[in-house]
Amino acid sequence: MGKIAMTTPLVEMDGDEMTRILWQMIKDELLTPFVELKTEYYDLGLPHREETKDQVTVDAAMATKKHGVAVKCATITPNAARVKEYNLSQMWKSPNATFRALLDGTVFRAPIIVKGIEPYIRNWVKPITLARHAYGDVYKAVEMKIPGPGKCELVYTDSDGRQTRSLIHEFDGPGIVQGMHNTIASIESFARCCFNYGLDTKQDVWFASKDTISKQYDHTFKDIFQEIYDKEYADRFREAGITYFYTLIDDAVARVVKSEGGYIWACKNYDGDVMSDMVATAFGSLAMMTSVLVSPDGKFEYEAAHGTVQRHYYQHLEGKATSTNPVATIFAWSGALRKRGQLDGLADLEAFADKLEKATLDTIESGQMTKDLAAITTIKGAKTLTSEEFIAKIRENLQR
Ligand code: NAP
Ligand code: MG
Repeated sequence: MGKIAMTTPLVEMDGDEMTRILWQMIKDELLTPFVELKTEYYDLGLPHREETKDQVTVDAAMATKKHGVAVKCATITPNAARVKEYNLSQMWKSPNATFRALLDGTVFRAPIIVKGIEPYIRNWVKPITLARHAYGDVYKAVEMKIPGPGKCELVYTDSDGRQTRSLIHEFDGPGIVQGMHNTIASIESFARCCFNYGLDTKQDVWFASKDTISKQYDHTFKDIFQEIYDKEYADRFREAGITYFYTLIDDAVARVVKSEGGYIWACKNYDGDVMSDMVATAFGSLAMMTSVLVSPDGKFEYEAAHGTVQRHYYQHLEGKATSTNPVATIFAWSGALRKRGQLDGLADLEAFADKLEKATLDTIESGQMTKDLAAITTIKGAKTLTSEEFIAKIRENLQR
């Protein structure tokens, strides 16, 4: 049997620590035996980011803009300890932040659902995809401690020097204030990313904010979503048989818990931060969460939602076998290959992505899994495998 051909290269970004080890295993065992893998390779491992003064991250983002689809391994976001460990000349920015800034994208996270790993919320039978606005609000806020009595105002000075003022509070004692912002351009691109992703994955889009209380700030989010939906998407949504739905954030939380899943939940930055951890945990495991960055002009970057699994890597360096879960990384590859197949009209590449995912899920459902899943599975007598053994089992299933 010949290998499956590709036409356009996939932008491949290698990463760090344990996920870098899994990356190679996945390629060797599950991809190159079946696909004539065509990638443009960028090494985003921290040593190479240091060598290139992080230029490699920018180059990879530019390549993603050019080719349209990328797959990324988890990478270290340097902190003080990493600067020492890797002898870095600078505390390089998170590659994901660089990517988001250059592609102006929204991150969509979705759980991988498999029999035997049951969500804590029993009625969640379909995945809930969380879309988090990744710019502004409290993450770009300016704050102040008010020491004592006095008046605090918002002041806007336009380019001609004219001022508009609004009283925040007349303090009669000490207090605190916070000023935050967002831009219409960023909110518009967030809305378009969500609607495009809804069309792309044939799922309803929900958006929620607190417009009843925040009559200008949150209401602007609500209005922008509605205007863009009515003008640009309503017809296409009807044709696709999907809907757009707006509600208050507190109502949304209650509905989400009672729902069966199967939609995209668009959240403002803070809501998305908090709710994505709730959704991920309630679905069972961070190691079973995929993540895709989608730009408003339709570029896709696939990755696992978890980090580089540092603790396992140090065990690996000591020569111990680890049982690190490769599923989210495998699904990053299958997601990227499927998208490449769709864009290039390669039905067999798309079919391969489906088979790879099925072989992975079948392996878990047959009771063979990594340690993290064995600890929470409802399958009786589940067997704990090392990463290598687990990937080898998937390969057996895939070959079949
Ligand atoms: P982590 O890599 O997500 O791992 C935290 C813990 O979660 C692990 O120690 C492990 O628990 C469990 N875990 C996560 N993924 C797993 C998997 N695939 N299989 C089995 N268990 C898994 O987070 P971290 O250790 O806090 O961060 C390590 C590095 O990753 C940091 O340098 C951080 O900057 C980076 N990071 C990168 C990304 C990204 O590239 N997108 C995202 C997040 C973090 P046990 O130890 O209990 O087994
Ligand atoms: Mg968070």
